[in-house]
Amino acid sequence: MKRAQKKTVQAAVFITLGVLLLLIHSHVADVIAGVFFGVALSALLRPAKTTKKRPTVTLPATQRHSITEFKRPKKPEPAVMEDITGASAQAAPLGIEYQKRQWQETKVVVDETLDMFLTAISGKLSFCTAAIFFHTDGGYTLRRSVSKSGFLNLEARIIPRRGILGSLLAEEGGLRPFYEPSFTNKNATLYYYDEEHEFKPEENIRSIMLCPAETAGETIAIVLVDSTKENAYSKQDLDFLRNIATLIGRSIYYTYLNTDHSLEYQRLAAISSVEDDFWKNLELDAVMDKMRDIIAYAITCDRLTISLKEEDTMTASIVRVHGEGSAGFDKLTFQLDGDSPKTIATVAYSQVAFSRNFNDDRHEPRYAENEPKSKGFGSFLAVPFGSNKLSADKFKGLMLVESVKKDAFTNFSAELLSRLGTSAGLALEKIFIIQKEQALARYDALTGIYNRRQFEKILNNKITSCKRYGDPLSLVLCDIDHFKKLNDTYGHPFGDIVLKGVAAKLESCVRIDIDAAARYGGEEFVLILDKTDCKKAKDLVERIRQTIEKLTFRTNDGKDVTLTMSFGIAEYSRRTLNNDDLVEWADQALYKAKANGRNRVEIYQ
Ligand code: GH3
Ligand code: MG
Ligand code: MG
Repeated sequence: MKRAQKKTVQAAVFITLGVLLLLIHSHVADVIAGVFFGVALSALLRPAKTTKKRPTVTLPATQRHSITEFKRPKKPEPAVMEDITGASAQAAPLGIEYQKRQWQETKVVVDETLDMFLTAISGKLSFCTAAIFFHTDGGYTLRRSVSKSGFLNLEARIIPRRGILGSLLAEEGGLRPFYEPSFTNKNATLYYYDEEHEFKPEENIRSIMLCPAETAGETIAIVLVDSTKENAYSKQDLDFLRNIATLIGRSIYYTYLNTDHSLEYQRLAAISSVEDDFWKNLELDAVMDKMRDIIAYAITCDRLTISLKEEDTMTASIVRVHGEGSAGFDKLTFQLDGDSPKTIATVAYSQVAFSRNFNDDRHEPRYAENEPKSKGFGSFLAVPFGSNKLSADKFKGLMLVESVKKDAFTNFSAELLSRLGTSAGLALEKIFIIQKEQALARYDALTGIYNRRQFEKILNNKITSCKRYGDPLSLVLCDIDHFKKLNDTYGHPFGDIVLKGVAAKLESCVRIDIDAAARYGGEEFVLILDKTDCKKAKDLVERIRQTIEKLTFRTNDGKDVTLTMSFGIAEYSRRTLNNDDLVEWADQALYKAKANGRNRVEIYQ
């Protein structure tokens, strides 16, 4: 037998036993019946896989809230962000739709349970209507019912101070079990029958009995039976109904708690899988894409913007956007220093996560005064992220989600974002370390321009494209004249200053992103002049030579020191066998420049 079938059979046996016991008019039998119903319910509701310990009955405030919130699923919210492409499949439990579906399924289980209780009531009591009302905002709404009357209002609500039931609700100390044996009332004024219908005298309700179903001290439901007969029920009947109400309270509580716990568990598992994803591809773009996809998927919002901080300039730039009017924010750079105007971003970057409604009277800048003005947004949640949440200067970025609704973001949204932010922050930290290491591997530690390794890489790439397109290329070896003497005269540290200055000058003399300047070693530098033949190169290098000649470096003693450089040019041509040849030719030209008196430019012929 399948597990589900077995559970149902078990439950059926206990329910039958319970109903039989209820038929015996004894208080003890009623109590035992209650226990049987309890066992039946727990068989039905026992979670399929979890082996969690039963929780204590005290409900934390949020869970109590969730019971009210989810008992009658609201109309599905217009999910603006339904595009879940890119969000990993394991992350499904984070999705709003997934959670809604789980609560819808829970609602079905609750309804089935309530129907079972109504069946139990039918076995013991005769009635015109047996109904269960559930707590909703400002009253109780009919949830499940069995009725012989054709005029029960299926949308009925019991509202405090409205009608006889409403006055019961409004009583101090909460709702109490209530039995009115001879109750003469027009059905319409009970407010759960059709108010328009003219009831015949024999249809009028003459007995009514109701009991509150409580969980954690709150009345979450009302169980009601009524009858057209006077004195229809006994004290035992009221006790019976009270037991049923208690069991209803408990079973609903456990059902919701079970769903809540299982969703919580699944969310944790999903978040962990997302965190793993961050480490799978330690590329800044990959981590940012993942963040955008997951947030857009897991949090109902109308706009998402993610920015990253530039430590050096105390600015930040928006790197990912999603949703309504977000394109205007893409790549927006904004100030984060003390003088910058106060915006949501400057506050969030300097503090902690915060969330509130937007001011209705004036536009509140998110990032900067010059950003696109957006109307119609109700609330936002801003969560800075980084590896160390305790110190604001460690924040590396900020996630800002906005909604057109007021109070759109819950504690769960904030928790989810900050957890996501922490793991993304750790991944980013690693990425930044790698980036720094890679940068170190490319640049010369003293002068900050490309090192020889990077020069060789660039030269390889350039020559590949020269071969393909037949473009010219010139290589220039540059060597400081009598540098040894300069070192000996003014000291090695001064020599370092000169090397830095010369390197910076050489780099500034060539075209950014087209040519390249690198330190070849010691006091030798190399220039790659792209799409430049040796004739053009000679003109350029001649100007560089003159520029270097005019450079002055001041020693600690206030003495101005000048220097000269010699240059050897080689042009790439089809007869160049390999890159080393080109360097060799440039070196030969440089040797010639030295031999011809230094402070000269020579071309390898
Ligand atoms: P030439 O005009 O023939 O090029 O003479 P030179 O003195 O410049 O050439 P040589 O190769 O004899 O000397 C190069 C000197 O550069 C020797 C070395 O101490 C110095 N040098 C190499 N690397 C560094 C460095 O990183 N810092 C400093 N201060 N000096 C360096
Ligand atoms: Mg040298
Ligand atoms: Mg030299």
